[in-house]
Amino acid sequence: MSPVTHGLLSWVLAQTPGITTRKDRALITIAGLAPDLDGLGIVVQWATANSAHPLEWFSEYHHRLAHNLTAAVICALAFASIAQRKLLVGVLAFLAFVLHLVGDVIGAKGPDGHQWPVPLFAPFHQWEWTWAGQWRLDSWQNLVITGVLVIITIIVACRRGWSPVEIVSPRADAAVVATFRRWFGPRPGTDAR
Ligand SMILES: [Zn+2]
Repeated sequence: MSPVTHGLLSWVLAQTPGITTRKDRALITIAGLAPDLDGLGIVVQWATANSAHPLEWFSEYHHRLAHNLTAAVICALAFASIAQRKLLVGVLAFLAFVLHLVGDVIGAKGPDGHQWPVPLFAPFHQWEWTWAGQWRLDSWQNLVITGVLVIITIIVACRRGWSPVEIVSPRADAAVVATFRRWFGPRPGTDAR
């Protein structure tokens, strides 16, 4: 799935009762995006494509390095160690990470038909997780899931007073929330926190 879908899904997960700080919500959201860090090699691959020594870091490492349970555990432990609600953030960060892997297995088929298998037990075992019913990255299913997540995000923003933008900038987030409330209510000062 696209980083936008992964990000919204883990941000919605971060609304679990007990998670009350911006930092903890951010950690859970970032955990849901973290597997795709192994795709950053695409920059190097593009940059060296026409050179004498092309580096195929995207082809070699995307869906290998970080799309596995070992990386999920490392990420959950690291994020729990700096979180406020350590145990809860650790569990939810692990869940967000695994949800990303599930999302890729069910809905990330490339335009060329490549399934981008997920080596769930790497580096200990080379078994690769695929699903025959996998839909394409640009499919209507992903569009519907993303649309539903956007609606939930807007509802949370109107009711609770924060959106995923808070991760980048609380000031910009306040403007986004104010805009959503103007469009969809409730007005600030009603049931707004
Ligand atoms: Zn991924």
